[in-house]
Amino acid sequence: MTTEASKRAIHQSPDAELDIFLAKSTLGFKKWSFLVGLLSYSGFTALDFFRFPSELYSTTIPARVLFVLIPLCIAVYVHWTKPISSTRAYISLNTTIYLATGLVNVFVYALARGSGVSEFSELGFVLIILFGCLMISLPILHATMVSIFLIVVLFFVTSLVEGFVIAHVFQISVYTCVATLCLIVHASFQRLLTDNYNMIQQFYGDSITDRLTGLKNNRYFVKQTLHLIQQGKVENKEVSLVIIDIDNFKEINDKYGHAYGDDCLSKLGKTLRSVCRREHDFPCRFAGDEFTIVMYDASKQEVMKVCQDILTDIQLYDVEVSIGNATSKIDKSMPAIVIKNKLFEQADEALYKAKENGRNMVFSAADLEG
Ligand code: GH3
Ligand code: MG
Repeated sequence: MTTEASKRAIHQSPDAELDIFLAKSTLGFKKWSFLVGLLSYSGFTALDFFRFPSELYSTTIPARVLFVLIPLCIAVYVHWTKPISSTRAYISLNTTIYLATGLVNVFVYALARGSGVSEFSELGFVLIILFGCLMISLPILHATMVSIFLIVVLFFVTSLVEGFVIAHVFQISVYTCVATLCLIVHASFQRLLTDNYNMIQQFYGDSITDRLTGLKNNRYFVKQTLHLIQQGKVENKEVSLVIIDIDNFKEINDKYGHAYGDDCLSKLGKTLRSVCRREHDFPCRFAGDEFTIVMYDASKQEVMKVCQDILTDIQLYDVEVSIGNATSKIDKSMPAIVIKNKLFEQADEALYKAKENGRNMVFSAADLEG
């Protein structure tokens, strides 16, 4: 995986996450829409044998197969088999199918009328609009642009083939109304999903955030550490853990009161945030007066710099902390949870040594081994 790709894997942008949520929420609907679309379009294609003369269907059938049925087969395949991790490719494919289905319909119409075949149902175009604006859950902008384009093209082609008559304006108005209605229903549905997503995000954000310090909590720490270890296994990178514990915090609480203690925790939270300057280092309040920082692909010097910066910064508000740190060795055969537990044990042991040796200092697990 490239560095850019790994950055994206570690932190998806909120917009990309919303797009994936919307795509996944409508996946079941789309899977069946494409399957039904494929089967019914195969039926319409076969009908060309019966309603058109051979010189006509020898052109219409290959056009339908090439530009509609094959893309529909690909859409059915990807929607039924591939998990959605990025939505761009899905949106491009679905937009292309809507566009191609509409244009092929206009093309077949022009051929049929040009060859004097008068029986050409307008229902086909209505079904295509329904399919593109509603059934395949395209983003509203894409669905709107393609619909406008198709209706305009259809208007020009009908006027060209049959000459302009007022009935065409009526016909185009009906298509426009159908498209507008489908887009309104689709937009309301998407609004509902977006509201649900925002609510879930808010609950989730609360469930992983410590209210006092604003840092992430224990639950997030476990989840993100496991994620980074998995990433490290793929990219052969190390993960480091720093544990910070306030010295004699019980005494501080007893001497100055709980509110003062809370203020110290809050200030330490700010310090930890300010010393995490690299993009993927993240501080958490693990429990009580114990904090953690997880660092991805950091050198020994970078880890020590963060630890020293903490010791320097907290002098400003008259609190002392002990710090332990450890770095995971890459063992691809070991489950991430085992690596995480071992990493935590080693950093905790180093912290214990710092406490034992007089507090207000840093100890590394690597130094203990040596
Ligand atoms: P040591 O140097 O060995 O760490 O000694 P310590 O006194 O800090 O001992 P310990 O880490 O076990 O004490 C944790 C204390 O943190 C106990 C508890 O009263 C206090 N504490 C935990 N959560 C909060 C909180 O949210 N606010 C305040 N003010 N105090 C808290
Ligand atoms: Mg303590």
